[in-house]
Amino acid sequence: MPSVYEKYHLKQVINASGRMTALGVSTPPGEVVEAVAYAMGQYFEMKDLVDKTGDYIAKLLQVEAATIVACAAAGIAQSVAAVIVKDDPRLLFDLHAAPVNGPTEIVLPKGHNVNFGAPVGTMVALGGGKVVEAGWGNECSPAQLDAAVGPKTAAILYIKSHHALQKSVLSVSEAVAVAQRHRVPLIVDAAAEEDLRCYYEMGADLVIYSGGKAIEGPTASGLVIGRKQYVEWVKLQSKGIGRAMKVGKEGILGLAAAIESYLTRSKETGNEMAARLQPFIADLGRIEGVAARIVWDSAGRDIARGEISFDENKLGRTTPSIVAALKDDDTAIYFREYRANEGKLEVDVRSVSSEQLKTISQNIARLLAGENE
Ligand SMILES: *Cc1c(COP(=O)(O)O)cnc(C)c1O
Repeated sequence: MPSVYEKYHLKQVINASGRMTALGVSTPPGEVVEAVAYAMGQYFEMKDLVDKTGDYIAKLLQVEAATIVACAAAGIAQSVAAVIVKDDPRLLFDLHAAPVNGPTEIVLPKGHNVNFGAPVGTMVALGGGKVVEAGWGNECSPAQLDAAVGPKTAAILYIKSHHALQKSVLSVSEAVAVAQRHRVPLIVDAAAEEDLRCYYEMGADLVIYSGGKAIEGPTASGLVIGRKQYVEWVKLQSKGIGRAMKVGKEGILGLAAAIESYLTRSKETGNEMAARLQPFIADLGRIEGVAARIVWDSAGRDIARGEISFDENKLGRTTPSIVAALKDDDTAIYFREYRANEGKLEVDVRSVSSEQLKTISQNIARLLAGENE
């Protein structure tokens, strides 16, 4: 039997870019794959499946309530819809057409109005919300967030992500204080974050996680945790806009299994990643015009990455052209390329084996020696 790669003429991929949706996010562990396969062969009373897996996860995480959704983006849209619709049946069934009398504004720091692969604002609009930006592109203080909240505010949205502005932005705890002062809910998008409890503990009303990223669940799944009333309203959305972003039994049981194993399985630490990177960094250091070192995650997570710097003058080519050539090779290599315009690439080893690290350094050496062209 030909492999899927042969059958569909697909390229082999080395994913050194982290949990990238565009590359298939993650490769879940065996127990998750088993849970997915089992779920596919069974029938359930689906409402019961949703409710009881949610209760089980809430207990595991020691939070009031939880529910599994189709993905983090769906979690944002349905959380926004939840705070606007609440349990109003007219709005639930007709969100985008019925006149809304209550608050619809979703206030977020301007530096959080980002594109995570699709724009945050589009998910807010899908949920019937209207984005109101607080502060400036490069700053948002508690006072600036406070000033943007008013009688039309349905919720404050905080994007906890490397995609979002990091410096000069209020913390989640400070956003909680602003939300509580105005008695509006705080929604935290923590899609790629690793700590499944801390934002809830800080006082967020709804916290959203991507199932396929840190948790390594099914690649189309997501988790919403929070205060019971808000989570109930999120669940109601399955009869409204949520139907267009339905999560199946396989996503539900797969993510539930992934969360349970995520809480107990030992995770590669930043120091272990750094140790695994050492020989790779040494190999790269031997290539003319290339320097490499270990750097730590800019969003503060326990992740060590390899940073490769290219001496563009010496090499006579730009870093973006190197990135393009390495993707174009027989085995496509994807890096974190946010700083390619500064001559730097980052290697995220969470999804890369030590053998693949060898392939990466060899392909870079080969490319720069001019053997590919
Ligand atoms: C990945 C990501 C999302 C979307 O997650 P999905 O589960 O793919 O929908 C939303 N917000 C942020 C900040 C992300 O990093």
